[in-house]
Amino acid sequence: METILLLTHTEADGALSKATREALAAAVLLSQHLPGANLTVGLVAADDAQVAADSIGACGAARFLAATGEDFATARYATDGAAAEALTQAAGATVVIAPGSSRWARCLAGVAQRMHGRADTHATAVAVEGGAATVTRWYYRQRIEGASQRTQRPWFILLEPGSGEPWQGAPAHAALERVPVAVDERLRRTTFSGWRAPRKDQQTIRPEADLLLVAGAGWTKKQADGQTHPADAERLILGFLQLAQASLGGSKSLVDLSGEGQAVLPFMTHLNQVGQTGATPRHPKGLATCCHGEEPHVVGWRFINERRAINLDPNCGWARGKADVLYVADAFAVMEQLNRLLTGKGHIEPA
Ligand SMILES: Cc1cc2nc3c(=O)[nH]c(=O)nc-3n(C[C@H](O)[C@H](O)[C@H](O)COP(=O)(O)OP(=O)(O)OC[C@H]3O[C@@H](n4cnc5c(N)ncnc54)[C@H](O)[C@@H]3O)c2cc1C
Repeated sequence: METILLLTHTEADGALSKATREALAAAVLLSQHLPGANLTVGLVAADDAQVAADSIGACGAARFLAATGEDFATARYATDGAAAEALTQAAGATVVIAPGSSRWARCLAGVAQRMHGRADTHATAVAVEGGAATVTRWYYRQRIEGASQRTQRPWFILLEPGSGEPWQGAPAHAALERVPVAVDERLRRTTFSGWRAPRKDQQTIRPEADLLLVAGAGWTKKQADGQTHPADAERLILGFLQLAQASLGGSKSLVDLSGEGQAVLPFMTHLNQVGQTGATPRHPKGLATCCHGEEPHVVGWRFINERRAINLDPNCGWARGKADVLYVADAFAVMEQLNRLLTGKGHIEPA
């Protein structure tokens, strides 16, 4: 008989993230389909966690546990690990489902080790097969999907944000039980000194965006007039991102060029890279521009539902079945027109 723990932390505003609700939906599913299983919620929060607990109070959990206090206001391996361990112990949890936030990704493998359990990260789904909890994750850079079960407990499962539907339900009062966490100066050696983040209007990675715009090295190549046009490329790409509130991805070739300090697209960093050695973002739609669509790049598109590409080359990788729609066209011209349409200044001749 499994005791399922939904383990999560509150956000800076005291609320629960969408990723937490996705993990909760998975935990609820397990608790409903595993014979004799029960569900506990464990919250880590700087405040008293009551608002967060009430927001999911109707999820069917038998117990709501909370480790609270200033020590948990920001991410820190030692205190987050201690809170996770205390909550897992207090719940008597055998299976722990947590959102794959950077905060949990940093410490839960260590907690599993400390508790003689096991951890699986980047899980994309949980299910019950043959009466046992089963985790799905991708291997070999999203090329192979595997399903696995474990006998070792406690089993920590970090669910990849964006993989499932978030739990939805009306708020209800949750009777919170406080779980004490022994935090001494040893655990406080790492201190939080502040946030360093790009200005909001310079932020190009938007995980919640409906559209991913991917730029390839073609934006930096000589065009029909024999010249490169990096200033136009920058204006068109940043203009589109702002107008469409899209997220920005890049091919490896392009981010490498930027990393080498060439005057190409200075806003493009390795964090934007999509592909085998880059990220596998999740967005409903993706538009590749000036990017060839080679296999190591395209494996990063695994979780993009609808793929379109603009390339001058009708024989590019996208044309070989990797995009749903390929526009054989000059991306500079297409993006110029798109931006005009998005600002309401464009005009399209009827076909
Ligand atoms: C082990 C390994 C791992 C790799 N991992 C990754 C990875 O994670 N991510 C990744 O991206 N790559 C990865 N690569 C590299 C990958 O194979 C490609 O080399 C790379 O993605 C190509 O980038 P690109 O399409 O931007 O550039 P290019 O291949 O140079 O293509 C540029 C494209 O732009 C088009 N173009 C030029 N001007 C225009 C215009 N005006 N309008 C429209 N189209 C235009 C051209 O027709 C061309 O198709 C990896 C390679 C290896 C070997």
